[in-house]
Amino acid sequence: MRQFELVDRVKRYNPQTDESLLNRAYVYGMMKHGAQKRASGDPYFSHPLEVAAILTDLRLDDATIAVALLHDTIEDTDATREEIDKLFGVEIGQLVDSLTKLRKLDFISKKTEQAENFRRLLLAIADDVRVLLVKLADRLHNMRTLGPMREDKRHRIAEETMEIYAPLAGRMGMQAVREELEELSFKTINPVAFEAIQSRLSDMRDKNRDLIPQIEKALTEKLLAKGIHAQVKGREKKAYSIFTKMQRKSVAFEQLSDIYGFRVIVRTLEECYRALGAVHTTWSMVPDRFKDYISTPKSNDYRSIHTTVIGPGRQRVELQIRTEDMHGIAEFGIAAHALYKEGDKVTGGRNIVPKSQESRSYGWLRETLSRLNDPNLNPEEFVENTKLELFHDQVFCFTPKGKIIALPRGATPIDFAYAVHTNIGNSCVGCKINGKLMPLMTELKNGDECDIIRAGTNTPPAAWEQIATTGKARAAIRRATRDAVRKQFGALGKQIVERAFSRAGKAWSDTSLEGIYHRFGHSSIADLLAAVGRGDIVSSQVVKAVYPDYKEERAQRSSALTRAHDALSDQNSIPIRGNLPGMPIRFAPEGAVPGDRIVGIITPGEGITVYPIQSPALESFDNEPERWVDLRWDIEETDKARFPAVLALDSVNEPGSLAQIATVIAEHEGNIENIRMLPQGADSHRMIIDLGVWDLKHLSRIMMQLRAKPFVSSVQRVNG
Ligand code: MN
Repeated sequence: MRQFELVDRVKRYNPQTDESLLNRAYVYGMMKHGAQKRASGDPYFSHPLEVAAILTDLRLDDATIAVALLHDTIEDTDATREEIDKLFGVEIGQLVDSLTKLRKLDFISKKTEQAENFRRLLLAIADDVRVLLVKLADRLHNMRTLGPMREDKRHRIAEETMEIYAPLAGRMGMQAVREELEELSFKTINPVAFEAIQSRLSDMRDKNRDLIPQIEKALTEKLLAKGIHAQVKGREKKAYSIFTKMQRKSVAFEQLSDIYGFRVIVRTLEECYRALGAVHTTWSMVPDRFKDYISTPKSNDYRSIHTTVIGPGRQRVELQIRTEDMHGIAEFGIAAHALYKEGDKVTGGRNIVPKSQESRSYGWLRETLSRLNDPNLNPEEFVENTKLELFHDQVFCFTPKGKIIALPRGATPIDFAYAVHTNIGNSCVGCKINGKLMPLMTELKNGDECDIIRAGTNTPPAAWEQIATTGKARAAIRRATRDAVRKQFGALGKQIVERAFSRAGKAWSDTSLEGIYHRFGHSSIADLLAAVGRGDIVSSQVVKAVYPDYKEERAQRSSALTRAHDALSDQNSIPIRGNLPGMPIRFAPEGAVPGDRIVGIITPGEGITVYPIQSPALESFDNEPERWVDLRWDIEETDKARFPAVLALDSVNEPGSLAQIATVIAEHEGNIENIRMLPQGADSHRMIIDLGVWDLKHLSRIMMQLRAKPFVSSVQRVNG
């Protein structure tokens, strides 16, 4: 393409184009790249020129076209940012600079560096979406001209394109670019499958040579008869889309019925529905294929009606019905919002997408970026989560007030809750789907109305991280769990330290540790207290650090029972919620269940062991009061966590008695973890049964039912 041809193409959609800017960028780019050659032997400048041409198809502003012409100059020639700023202005300089920085990070194989690359790409896009448009056009032209490169390099580029750029184009609503990127990558990554599908397609083309025009004609006439002027355009599906469909449905090529798709483009929204009516009354519709993305647009603003009918010649015909405007957005996506508008001032600046018509693709981008700023999220996790979101199809669900929440396919009510608001996610305890109480792990379907039931708690169970599918929900759950663990350690540590001070007869206040936390290698009082809570630091060392003259004395404990009384009256006792990952809490061999009075014994470096207060084993800790910790249960009725308890059951020998005991326990929803048999003479047994139960009431119920069996002579709880 020649200089004047490029300018002509821009002038066709933008009569007020700044010709001098385009001409100067053209000449500067060509001069700078000079005699450089591409791998194919073509002059290097043909590349930026083609990239600019792709962007004229998207009808972009002058600045973007100029940036395309200059995008490789800083990286590949002696051009500098300063020079470009001076010649073309800071706005263009900034864009070229962003693209240069991104290029340095292309095709890096290490996962962490790839993650960093992706992160920078998103940040640059957030700053100015034109970076993405030039980047995608650049990648598209590189993919079109992969041929002469080394095999391994082509593979790497194609894989990166398939993994990041094609889905990103799709997520931004640029379907035409996405399709071409996918098709070119597929051809490189899986040439055998690509060729096989192509040859089948060409066989089919020979066989049904006139099928597409015939159907186009039949559809157009049928619609016209109803007074609807429609452009009908048929096309073959792309090899990659056929390939994924074959894989998804595990079917052979011959079994695929919808190789052809038809677009019906009408003039008004109302005509979309009239056209649909005309199609459905003429041909029979295939069930479950109808989708109305006009009343419920996809999250990238895609709008169309989809349906499939048994059309002329008993051929299955897939239809997309839409207006011209909807078609523009379907093909160009975010670029359609950046279309040059006649009469606009040719600033081409940041206001390229006015707030009022911001595409919802930006919403996705903004949300993704807000997660980037989470310092607790490691970059690899971020990329994994974000990539997953790029790939998933979407489901659309509704709040009880009718607001649409778009979620990736496979999402659960937990994801839904977090998508609405983090606080709603954190306080979610149940849900109604379409008015019915449903488990939180239910997979949401399109159109589901989801009503989240909330309670006062603010710590979601850590296990939800496995149930959630959206990155947002997972990150929030992980953060809430981490915060809860940290808070528990801190509270525990504070209590231990306070008690150590009072035992030593020393004054304590919140600022007592101000001067000493750094001596333990911690950067705040909170960190030091958490370390004591974890058992990493012994409390008496902390007292000694504040009062160097303090001599540790062995205080006498009165008895475990007095201690228990103290524990119950202590408002500051540590709540035990079951199995928080990261909390080094375990149970004494005899177990403890909610309803038991409990105390903890701390073992430095190992954590806390939970004992029921009646445990005889506690006597051995009477001389070490600093190791005692007050605990209380913090269990909700809805928690179905199980806790350990041990039973000793005496029975007379009777055939099948063990089976009956197991049945009684199972019928009352107890879990048997282990059974040991101790023979007691010729005709009786003692069984030691390790159980998992919800609480003391549950345990008592099971014990009662066991006692009711005639062959059972006694059932006791084992204490230590
Ligand atoms: Mn380039």
